[in-house]
Amino acid sequence: MTVHSPRTIDQAVTLLEKYPSAMILSGGTDFMVEVNFNHRKPSQVVSTRAIEELRQWNIDHDTNSIFIGAGVTYSTIESSDIAQAAPALAEASRTVGSPQIRAAGTMGGNLGTCSPAGDTLPVFAALDAKILLASNAGRREVSFADFMVGPKKNSLLAGEMVLGVSLPIIEGWQGYAKVGVRNAMVISIASACLVRNASDDSVRVALGSVGPTIIRARAAESWWLDQGAPRSSSEMHTEFGARCAAEASPITDHRSTAEYRRHAIKVLCTRLAARSTSR
Ligand SMILES: Cc1cc2nc3c(=O)[nH]c(=O)nc-3n(C[C@H](O)[C@H](O)[C@H](O)COP(=O)(O)OP(=O)(O)OC[C@H]3O[C@@H](n4cnc5c(N)ncnc54)[C@H](O)[C@@H]3O)c2cc1C
Repeated sequence: MTVHSPRTIDQAVTLLEKYPSAMILSGGTDFMVEVNFNHRKPSQVVSTRAIEELRQWNIDHDTNSIFIGAGVTYSTIESSDIAQAAPALAEASRTVGSPQIRAAGTMGGNLGTCSPAGDTLPVFAALDAKILLASNAGRREVSFADFMVGPKKNSLLAGEMVLGVSLPIIEGWQGYAKVGVRNAMVISIASACLVRNASDDSVRVALGSVGPTIIRARAAESWWLDQGAPRSSSEMHTEFGARCAAEASPITDHRSTAEYRRHAIKVLCTRLAARSTSR
């Protein structure tokens, strides 16, 4: 295979236009597994690793948002000021693979793979993230809800790449939790992100690994808002967890059963709700 190593985004999108079937290579932690198992045999590869711009992030105090480049690694997210601006993203990043995987793996790669088990994706769904895309024809922004269209399917067009993600900086609380078959180095069998907005006490909750795409538990969100303050009773948190689980759409596969996944969502969402009101 021929590996191209552009240094700028313009060079990268020019290559992607010239070779429409080229694969983008970022940290390689998903890509190389596919290649090693002969699941993919790309003849042209566009590596983004030399594109410095993709490894940048920027906090905009005017719009109260953070833009994170697609090439930012999990270890950077955990250890930089991104962790203060987007605590749930940092929490999710800390659960990814091993230190080696977190040093190489990127947020853009998680979006590129677009697995329902991808750890950053519930955070993007709960925060209503905007994904910035580029091709030789120009740039466009899509909401995360429109970006992920199925299991391992996104709405990238031929010749397009992810430049980064824009997230609002929320005044309030946000957290991420996942269940796997052990505590570390594990792909989730159920995951959830909860964001609680301090100004109106609303919550946004997104569920991972329990549907073809990340699921927003919108009925549970509305139910939360309908409850009176202070929303800190354990009964309310348990009921909220049950309502989130009712919105999950899990399947049984080699990792877990649908029944266990639904139970795990109930437990995770109950705990996240309790954590969100405990401070
Ligand atoms: C041992 C191991 C453990 C893992 N554990 C976890 C885990 O706990 N949680 C988890 O979520 N994932 C896990 N993964 C999967 C993987 O590490 C993540 O999905 C990671 O985010 C992929 O990022 P990458 O930079 O390595 O992407 P790559 O492997 O380089 O690319 C992945 C896909 O995204 C595409 N892509 C890359 N960059 C872009 C871009 N800028 N625009 C468009 N498409 C792009 C590629 O073409 C490819 O299809 C694990 C993998 C391994 C090998």
